[in-house]
Order: sequence, then structure tokens, then C-alpha cells
Amino acid sequence: MSILSTTEMAEAAQVVVERFMRGLIRRNPGETEFHQSVRGVADSVTPLILGNDVYRRMRIADRITEPDRIIIFRVSWEDDKGNVRANRAWRVQFNNSIGPYKGGLRFHPEVNLSVLKFLAFEQTFKNSLTGLPLGGAKGGANFNPKGKSESEVMRFCHSLMVEMYRHIGDDVDVPAGDVGVGQREISYMFGQYKRLANRFEGVLTGKGVSHGGSLVHTESSGYGVVYFTLNMLERTGQSLDGKRCSVSGSGNVALYAIEMLTRLGGKAVTISDSSGFIYDPDGIDTDKLEWLKDLKQVRRGRIEEYVERFDGAAFHPDKQPWGVPVDIALPCATHNEISEESARTLIHNGVVAVAEGSNMSCTPRAARRLVDARVLYAPGKAANAGGVVASGFEQTQNAQRMAWTKEEVDSRLRSVMRTIHRKCVDYGEQSDGYVNYVTGANLAAFVKVADAMVAYGAV
Ligand code: NDP
Repeated sequence: MSILSTTEMAEAAQVVVERFMRGLIRRNPGETEFHQSVRGVADSVTPLILGNDVYRRMRIADRITEPDRIIIFRVSWEDDKGNVRANRAWRVQFNNSIGPYKGGLRFHPEVNLSVLKFLAFEQTFKNSLTGLPLGGAKGGANFNPKGKSESEVMRFCHSLMVEMYRHIGDDVDVPAGDVGVGQREISYMFGQYKRLANRFEGVLTGKGVSHGGSLVHTESSGYGVVYFTLNMLERTGQSLDGKRCSVSGSGNVALYAIEMLTRLGGKAVTISDSSGFIYDPDGIDTDKLEWLKDLKQVRRGRIEEYVERFDGAAFHPDKQPWGVPVDIALPCATHNEISEESARTLIHNGVVAVAEGSNMSCTPRAARRLVDARVLYAPGKAANAGGVVASGFEQTQNAQRMAWTKEEVDSRLRSVMRTIHRKCVDYGEQSDGYVNYVTGANLAAFVKVADAMVAYGAV
């Protein structure tokens, strides 16, 4: 019997990953985002699978990368001028081994099957990390809510639910919000669900507090990213105090990440949208943040208005904030928003921690650079799990017919984020003490789902 060195084992695992990926790409042609997310997980878990006869015999790698089902349907609706419009919608129910499907809905013109499969795959692992009984799903439509009137958005949401209601349920699949889908859209969809199913149940999360929503739900993803960042810093004897931080995006995740960051002593110096970014060297304090919330959540305006309102800030059109020297970077806009080049710049400027508010914010090369440079780098499936944690809390409150206080939800959220961090450390700590949070998150999440799949047999 030959004993392989660590390097030889890593090389053997890499050969297996390449062979596996060739098959996956053949079965899912053109789905580049999905390929990228599977490769990220395969790189981490293949050595484990190779050493585990049961996982191999039960074909876990093949089965865990194949969605349980995908529902594709047309959504017809009428615009304000009386024109009939049609969009395409999807629900990817990826894996319900550890609980009912759970994951957001995204309304964006660039939504396609590849993006939703990547998000549903990631969601399966994210939900596993939370320790809550939640399976993984994602859905959405190639509908652009920008520039649409209230009644157009309402008609679209109602029409979408006419088909979707038969595929969801509180023990089946529980959608939530994501890009382009906030409390307004969730409430329209819930209203239509309630009418069609004649049931008031926790079938959608992110609802308004008056009709079954949870306090701190809106804030949860952004708060969670900052809690996770704080956990990483504290483990290495650091704090958020006085840390300069770049944030991208100005949606739900970005705004509440800035809120918690400021509360815990950090200073956000950037914010962005798809038209460019704002650099405010004085920091985005509480008053500025309140103005931003009104701009983005109420008036639905553009980020460049910030410089007309606040002195000392600059707007950089069509640029990303990663060139600004900071201690911490929180990408909270979209996938692949940090390129290898941007990662190199962040490292050059001395970044200490990067935590992904958006899913798969870093390209694979960017992620590798950050790990190689020993930056504290948290992948989205760990760092931004706060949203789904709060969704799980909302389901629990709906089932209990109870409403928890703000303090109770926030303290539970903080505690679950601490547990997720602990799991990443347990599975990702290296001999030199550095924690590879990517490996840690992937392994901890995979083992739970894989063991459940093994227990069920060949289903
Ligand atoms: P929102 O729709 O509320 O905001 C998204 C923000 O990102 C907007 O400011 C948008 O700008 C900007 N943005 C979108 N695409 C681009 C782009 N290509 N380039 C630059 N900026 C862009 O979304 P959320 O805040 O809810 O979500 C942001 C990210 O976080 C997504 O990746 C989402 O999947 C992830 N996430 C969200 C969770 C949640 O609970 N909401 C939970 C976990 C992860 P503009 O206004 O110009 O479009």
C-alpha cells in the first residue's frame, strides 16, 4: 500500500475535481455562474468525499449538484397604458434534505437560469450552516421593477403568484426577498397567495410587521455581515473600533451593514449603485444614513444625489469603490463584483477583512488572492446568512402565532452568526492558525446535507 503525501493527495483531488466539472459543464451547458459556484464547493469537499466510501457509493457529489426540480413559467400582466406584457419566471427547488425549500426571489432584467441555479445551490449550503431546518431554493423573474408604477409592480406580483402558489407552502417552499424584491413586493405576493389558497400561513418571509412579518428582518442580512466580520476580527484580537470600511451597493444589505458598522465603532466611507460610487472621507454617519434610506427606499433615487447634499464627498461615475484604501471591504451589490485586480488593490492598500454581503462577490481568482494574502475572507454563504436566519425566525413566529421583540430577534441573530463563525473555524482552521473560511463554510455545510441524503437512501 502506498502512502500519498499531502501534496500528492491534493493533486489527486484536483484531477477528480476537473473530471467532475467536465461532466457537470456537459450536463449544464452555458451556465457559467452555476459552474463557478459548484467548482468553489467541489474544490473544498472533494478530498473529504475521496476519503469517504459512503459518500462515493451514494454518488453524493452528482446528486447534490442536481436540483430537485425547476419550475419555469410565463407571467402575463398589463401595464398602465393597457399593453399586455409577458415575462419569464423560475423557481429552482434545489435540495430539501434538511428542511422545506427556502430562498429569495429576484426581479432583475438579467435574471436567468444559470444565476438562479448558482444562487439556489449556494442557498442550500448557507441554510445548512445556520443550523435551522431549511432546504435551499431560489427564484425570480426577468422583470425590471425600475421605472414601473406601484400598480404595475402590484399587477406583476399578483400575476406571478397565480402560478407560483401551487408550488409553495409553509412545509414545502418558503420564498423571501432578494434584489428587486422587498417588503412591498412580498406583501403583494402574500396578499394574492392568501386569496388563492385561503390560508394565512408563513409561506413567504419578509412580510410587513402588520401582517406576520418579523422585526429586524429588513436589517438582518446587513447586520449579520457586520456581526460575522466582528467575530473574525475578535478571533485575531482586533475590533471594529475606528476601522475604515468600503461598502458597495445601496440596497437592503448595504444600508443596514452601514448602520451596524457605525453602531459598533466602524466608519463606512463608500456606498454605490449601478451608476457609480460615493467616497465620503468623513464617513457615512447616522444622519447621512437616514437620508440615504429615504433616497433609496422611499424616493428610489440615484446615489449621485449624495454629493449635492453633503460637502466633502465625491461621486465616481461607472466605478467601483475597491481602490479606496480601507481596513475592511463589504461588497453588498452583486456577484463577481470584486475582480482579481480589485482584490490585489485591496491587499496592496492593507485590507484586513473582506466579508461578502452579496453572494459570490469575489471571482475565484480574487478569492484565491485574498486567502493567499491571509486576509480574513468570509464567503457570502457564511457572512450574509443573517437574512435567511431572520426568515427562519419569521417562520417560527408565524407557526407559534407569536411576535418576538426587536431585542429578542437581534440577540438570536447575533448568536446564530456566532455559531456559523464557530463552525467555519472548526472546519477551516489551518495549522498556522489562519482560518480558511471558504473551506470551513463549504465543509461544515456539506457534511450536514450529505449525511441527510445518505440517511434517506437513493431518493
Ligand atoms: P437591492 O436590490 O436592495 O440592492 C442592490 C444594490 O446593488 C443596489 O444599490 C444596486 O444598484 C446595486 N447593484 C446591483 N447590481 C449591480 C451591478 N451590477 N453593479 C453595481 N451595483 C449593482 O438588493 P439587496 O441589498 O437585497 O441584495 C444585494 C446582494 O446581497 C445580492 O447579491 C443578494 O443576493 C445578496 N443578499 C441579499 C439578502 C437579502 O436579505 N436581501 C440576503 C443575502 C444576500 P441599483 O439601485 O443601481 O440597481
